[in-house]
Amino acid sequence: MLDGVPFFNYKELFLSQEEKFIEIIRDVLSRGAFIMQRDLEEFEQKLAKFTGAKHAIGVSDGTNAITLGLRASGIGPGDEVIFSSHTMVATPGAIVMAGATPVPCDVDEDGLMDATQAEKLITSKTKMLMPTDLNGRVADMMAIRKLADKAGLLIAEDAAQSLGARYHGESAGLFGAFGTFSFYPAKSLGCFGDGGGFITNDDDIAAHVHAQRDHGRGGLGSSEVTVWGTNSRLDNMQAAILSYLIDSFDENIARRREIAAKYDAAFSGISELTLPPKPGINPDRFDTFQNYEIRSPRRDELQKFLADKKVGTIIQWGGKAVHQFETLGFSTNLPQTDRFFEECLMIPMNHLLTDDEVSYVIESVLAFHNL
Ligand SMILES: *Cc1c(COP(=O)(O)O)cnc(C)c1O
Repeated sequence: MLDGVPFFNYKELFLSQEEKFIEIIRDVLSRGAFIMQRDLEEFEQKLAKFTGAKHAIGVSDGTNAITLGLRASGIGPGDEVIFSSHTMVATPGAIVMAGATPVPCDVDEDGLMDATQAEKLITSKTKMLMPTDLNGRVADMMAIRKLADKAGLLIAEDAAQSLGARYHGESAGLFGAFGTFSFYPAKSLGCFGDGGGFITNDDDIAAHVHAQRDHGRGGLGSSEVTVWGTNSRLDNMQAAILSYLIDSFDENIARRREIAAKYDAAFSGISELTLPPKPGINPDRFDTFQNYEIRSPRRDELQKFLADKKVGTIIQWGGKAVHQFETLGFSTNLPQTDRFFEECLMIPMNHLLTDDEVSYVIESVLAFHNL
């Protein structure tokens, strides 16, 4: 009998395939292959193939990936970038680190950028729309592209949570100039530390980011300095782990979608809950469920009830949308996002959950609703 379900079992990420991981780590370390070695190149090739991107580049983390992409796209001081306020503070932080000004935008019912609201934020300084593909779901790119075309803006995606997600057959990260991924351990493709990915179909942006991540040098095997850069390399050992994990990543996603379908079947009769769109309900979408974020008018009570049952839950971003961080100087009024944050809660969702754990979560949520 289970006595609880953690929100994310970090140890299990390693222990689930301990022997295989030790074998990979031993192989990499005994080759002395620490930095910028073939494991990184292999992973980059697999990431490009998996997403269908012309170029994929391993970088240190999902945050720096954004900064490098902005610099490579010519975004900097004096430019405004509109981002969705329901995102990690990493998104606007990366915009600031590139020297530009982040402008928070309201979210739609699904928690992603509302293009209608984005349009109202456009000024003569706006250069780019940067939606976050949150929770494994691509933002409403048809509307966002239409707006970008009309207003002459670039698009880039913070796809940290959405590797493998698709919309109208196209991969998250490929709807604009570039897309970025995070391989933080709790992300759907997680490594054993920090890691990030960058994809683009643009040769110039790819060359620029390739150089930037290694002090402006030309890339693997080249020491020619072409641009100002930094150290934002993906560690070769993490790359080797990711290269192994990406081979079975389709199964990871399938398991997440299976759990989402179970949650949906169990909770769809509870009228006070708002659930994420059920997998498969819209044939144009393929959501990967990095998170399962529900909404309840009794959110705080529900969270406490689940905590008593030892079910781990999280209110995303510590309970605050980015524009609510007053210390960062935002004064924008975003009523749709404010309302969302009064109700949102994430329940356990990852590929490591067992059927028993999923049942335990379901029973606990049902019990709160006297079912
Ligand atoms: C995790 C995350 C990031 C940051 O990624 P790191 O690899 O931790 O730098 C950025 N944006 C979103 C939406 C994220 O979920």
